[in-house]
Amino acid sequence: MPEELLLDVRRLRTEFSQGKKGSVVAVNDVSFQIHKGEILGLVGESGCGKSVTALSIMSLLKDTPGKITGGEVYLEGKNLLECSEEEMRKIRGENVSMIFQEAMSSLNPAMRVSAQLVEAILLHTDKTRREAEEHALKMLAQVGIPDPARVGRSYPHQLSGGMSQRVMIAMAMSCDPHLLIADEPTTALDVTIQAQILDLMRKIQREIHTGILLITHDLGVVAEMCSRVIVMYAGRIVEEAPVQMLFYEPMHPYTKGLIASVPKLGSGVTSLPSIPGSVPDLSMMPPGCKFAPRCRYAQDRCREEEPPLAELGGGRKCRCVLVQDKEATVQ
Ligand code: SF4
Repeated sequence: MPEELLLDVRRLRTEFSQGKKGSVVAVNDVSFQIHKGEILGLVGESGCGKSVTALSIMSLLKDTPGKITGGEVYLEGKNLLECSEEEMRKIRGENVSMIFQEAMSSLNPAMRVSAQLVEAILLHTDKTRREAEEHALKMLAQVGIPDPARVGRSYPHQLSGGMSQRVMIAMAMSCDPHLLIADEPTTALDVTIQAQILDLMRKIQREIHTGILLITHDLGVVAEMCSRVIVMYAGRIVEEAPVQMLFYEPMHPYTKGLIASVPKLGSGVTSLPSIPGSVPDLSMMPPGCKFAPRCRYAQDRCREEEPPLAELGGGRKCRCVLVQDKEATVQ
């Protein structure tokens, strides 16, 4: 069972300015918790608000038109949204690490790889320089880099995309973070390296009880890694459930569609059933349930009022009138 509470996100709301046209809400009333040593999956199609949620938690919206306009984000009891930029820089190094989809942007192009790793380790741990150098090489080896000493002497531009991704993962994990936010961490990597990285994430989760927010569109990775899953659609949470419950008995029509879109091995199916249509433009959100234009169960009342995210027991939450009707009948 999960232990001590690590991250507590309460009613987070992030808006993006559209200049004279006003603003759009990219993350709307999002609340969830992560306990120490827990891996929580965050899934949904591109544009559902997953990455903006992660950037908001890390206070990394500075270079975007985005702004947090509501809610609280507590990390080990401290509200991150009240921290200064200087405090956040320290927290980002010592307590929270983030692995982005785009590795190059988080590496310093003017520093050799090992120097960057050693600097981060020295800054955020009490290791000596020698210990930090040894630890840097060990981390490079652990993320599957075949010749860590040679790669350590390279500059980021001399590395392939996959290699820089692994260097960034080594850097993110080198200071034993309490919380790791991994946004599509293995998407660009081949299957063997992906398996090594996922193993490494499980290792820090087991050994130092790192809590992990794993953002991915890959439901196979979720099934393998996570204990609980949150499904986001149009900036909102539409379903939350323990992983087995979500896969064996998905309730929200959107979750059902996502799971039905996963190819089944050996099924001989070549065209995949998928969800018709696309995620709504944030500036043209439909009234009522945001999934209604794509939902084959939609009724008139779905288009009138947005359903709340209702607690259904057993750790499940769902935002759909039909599910709520059914549950009310059963009780
Ligand atoms: Fe579909 Fe209605 Fe449920 Fe929305 S509330 S997911 S439109 S059935």
